[in-house]
Amino acid sequence: MALLGIDLGTTAVKALLINEEGETLASATVEYPLYTPKPLWSEQDPADWWRATVEAIRQVLAKAGVSGKDVRGIGLSGQMHGLTLLDRAGNVLRRAILWNDQRTAAQCDEMVQRAGGMARLRELVTNPPTTSYTAPKILWVRAHEPEIYARIAHILLPKDYIRYKLSGVFATEVGDATGMALLDVKHRTWSDEMLRLLEIPREWLPLCAESHEPTATVSAQAAQETGLAVGTPIVGGSGDQPAAAVGLGSVREGIVNVTLGTSGVVFASVEHYPPIRDTAIEVFCHAVPNTWFFMGVMLSAGGSLRWHRDTIAFGHSRLVARQTQETDPYDVLLQSAASVPIGAEGLTFLPYLTGERTPHRDPLARGAFVGLTLRHTQAHLARAVVEGISFGLRDSIELMRELGLHVNEVRAAGGGARSAIWRQMLADIFQADITLVNSTEGGAFGVALLAGVGTGLWRDVREACDAVIRVTARTSPSDDPAVRRQYDEAYARFRELYPALKSAFARAASA
Ligand code: ADP
Repeated sequence: MALLGIDLGTTAVKALLINEEGETLASATVEYPLYTPKPLWSEQDPADWWRATVEAIRQVLAKAGVSGKDVRGIGLSGQMHGLTLLDRAGNVLRRAILWNDQRTAAQCDEMVQRAGGMARLRELVTNPPTTSYTAPKILWVRAHEPEIYARIAHILLPKDYIRYKLSGVFATEVGDATGMALLDVKHRTWSDEMLRLLEIPREWLPLCAESHEPTATVSAQAAQETGLAVGTPIVGGSGDQPAAAVGLGSVREGIVNVTLGTSGVVFASVEHYPPIRDTAIEVFCHAVPNTWFFMGVMLSAGGSLRWHRDTIAFGHSRLVARQTQETDPYDVLLQSAASVPIGAEGLTFLPYLTGERTPHRDPLARGAFVGLTLRHTQAHLARAVVEGISFGLRDSIELMRELGLHVNEVRAAGGGARSAIWRQMLADIFQADITLVNSTEGGAFGVALLAGVGTGLWRDVREACDAVIRVTARTSPSDDPAVRRQYDEAYARFRELYPALKSAFARAASA
C-alpha cells in the first residue's frame, strides 16, 4: 500500500511515494522551462507540467517497485496563484501566468476600485490582491487579450490542471482557492459578490472542496499514460505552503513553522477566523477543515546570508573554514557571529535586499548596515546579518500575536534550520521553543498524508500527522533574563530603522 504526493513546483514537479508509516518509498523530480516573454512576465506551458508529471509518476512507481493498483490515493500540491485558462473542449488557451509574474499592478487597483475600497475588499476575500493573485491576472487577460478572454470556459490553478488531466474533473480546494482572491475565506465558498463586482462568470470556476476530501478518480486515459490504476481517488490537496506545513505537522494552533530558505516564511495555524483588519499578514484557509493559517513572507532571509557569504565574507569565511577544518562557510559565519555580543555592539542590518513583503509591503525597500564603527569586525557584520534576518521574521510573529496568536513552539525548516547556533538565536528572539521534525519531503509529503486521510487510513489530518511526524530536536530560550533583554533592545533598534530610512530607500531606487 502506498500514498502518492505530487508537488508541481515552479522549476520542477516532484512525485513522492510513502507507506502508511510515513516512510519514503521513492521520489522522482522532473524539471520544465519557465518563460519570460517580457520583463516582469513569468509563464509556463501546462503541457510541460503534464508531460513532466507523467514522467515523474512513471519514474517513482518504477523506483519504488510499486504497481499502480497499490496506490491507495493521490494528493496534489504546487505553486499557488497561477492562472490556467481552458476553452469549452478543455484545450489550454494560452501559457499559464505564474505567481511571480508582475504585470498586474493596474488590475490590483481596479479590484479595489470595483469592490468600493480596501475595507470592503477585505470583507469579501480577506486579503488585498497583490500581483501574485489570480483574479487580477483574469482582469489582465480581459483587458489585453480579449480574443482569448472570449473563449474562456474554465479557470484552473496549476495543480488543478494536473487533477483535470488525471481525471477529467474540474476541482480545487479552499487553500489554493484563497490565493485567487475570489473566495469568501471565512465561509470557505466562492464569493458570489466578488465575482459579480469583477464580472467573472461563476461557472468558469471549479468545484471547491476541503483539502482531504476526495474530488476525482484517475481516468482510463490517464491510467494508460501514467501507470496508475483507473479509479484511484484524488483528494483536494493544497497549495505548496499549507501542504508543506501539514508535512511538518503544523496543524494545531500554537505550532508555528518558520522556513529559513532563500526566502523566509512564518506560518501559523489558527482555529478561529480572525477579525479582519489592516494587516500585512495574509490569512488563508488551512488544510484542516474549519481552520485557517496566517502567513508572513520575508523575501531575502537565507538569501541575505548567502549574499553576505558571497560578497562581504567572500574569501574570509573560506579561509577560516580551511584553517579550522570546518567545511561549510555558513557554519564558519554562524560560529563567528556567536563570538560577539548580542546586538553586535550597536550594529544593525536590514535584510530588505530584494524589497520586502511582510511586514513592509515595499518593493523599493533596501538592505542596510546601520551603526558601523571602527570597532566592528567581520564577526560583527555576520552577527548583524543573522540577527537582522531573525528580527525580520520576529516582525511577522509579532503581527500574528497582535491578531491573537499564542506561540508555543516554532518548527524550523529550510537550509538555515541546520544551524544549532541560529536555532538558539531564534529561540531567544522569538521567546519560544524551536524544534526540528523527522519529515523533510515538504509539500509532496503533506498531500500524501491528506490522501491517506481522504481514503480512510487516518481519521483526520491531525491523526495523520501524529502518526508519522516526530520532534527530533528542541532548543529552548535561555534562562538568563539578560539574554532576552539584550535581544529586545537590539530588536527595538531594528524596528526604528525601516520607517526612518523608507524615503531614503525610495530615493536610492530612483537613482
Ligand atoms: P531554497 O529556499 O533556495 O530552496 P534552502 O532551504 O536550501 O534553499 O536554504 C538555503 C539557505 O539556507 C542559504 O541561503 C543559507 O542562508 C542557509 N543555510 C544553508 N546551510 C546553512 C548552515 N549550515 N548554517 C546556516 N545557514 C545555512
